[in-house]
Amino acid sequence: MKKHLIPFVAAMVSLAVFGCSETKTPATENKAAETVEKPAPAENTAIEKASPAENAVEGTKTVTLANGAKVIWMQDNQGEKLNPRSLFSDASDSLFASLNMPDGIPASVSTFLVQVDGKNILFDAGLGAFGGQTTKRLEALGINADDITLIYLTHFHADHIAGLITKDGEGKDVKVFNNASVYAGKVEYDAWMNDIPKNDLQKMVMEIYKDSLHLFAFGDSLPNGVLALDAVGHTPGHTVFQFGDLLVIGDLMHGYALQKDHPEINSNYDIDKEKSIKSRKRIMQYARENKLLMAGMHLPPPGFAE
Ligand SMILES: [Zn+2]
Repeated sequence: MKKHLIPFVAAMVSLAVFGCSETKTPATENKAAETVEKPAPAENTAIEKASPAENAVEGTKTVTLANGAKVIWMQDNQGEKLNPRSLFSDASDSLFASLNMPDGIPASVSTFLVQVDGKNILFDAGLGAFGGQTTKRLEALGINADDITLIYLTHFHADHIAGLITKDGEGKDVKVFNNASVYAGKVEYDAWMNDIPKNDLQKMVMEIYKDSLHLFAFGDSLPNGVLALDAVGHTPGHTVFQFGDLLVIGDLMHGYALQKDHPEINSNYDIDKEKSIKSRKRIMQYARENKLLMAGMHLPPPGFAE
């Protein structure tokens, strides 16, 4: 039977953006590494620069993790993204002015692909019909949507899940990723199915993927050794994922240049302000203490921060 799709317009696009620092690439010991800018901390993050060929694809950046897996940033939004001052009501005028970013804080909408043991694992799916570039980036990397066998979702805002679906020839909403198991937090799922208004898109996506949906609890160890960590606040079940020395931080920050030094400042997209601040502080400290590479869905290009 055919289901008529309600234009799932409304709820959309809470674009988070995030500002950022460039990924610096610590040299491995005896490589004549290109110089790392900054009075670099002596610790090695074991993140090596990918080959030039790997970074030839527009809107992507490949990094090799200490465990040998590759993580590829994919810019999902088109063009440049600046998150405006109006998104950060918590910040005083003088604090914002001190950034010297009058046009807004550099950010992006991003997705990340991890390649490990011959598998392609996607973290979030991007904007989809709302301008998303993820499937295009995958194709440019030589990867078909059907090659993705695992998808981890940080939360259910439209700029993270709309890319899971597309229209078929008859205008029916269908899966983009036919062979993927989708992992989502149970807390996030329950909140969107029951409590959060304007959830037409979320309900539709979860219905379409119900045969391949797996709900996890915080602390669960998931396939390929991915660990799901509590980062609630932005949404009720907002999750960050650790994979080796990679920490996929979802929407922990929307204005990196501001929030890296001021984690007490929320973006207006953060639903629970107090919890958002606590999670931001705790997760950033965790990343620092464990020397994890952060990959953020709204970090400025190229999507990584250390
Ligand atoms: Zn977002």
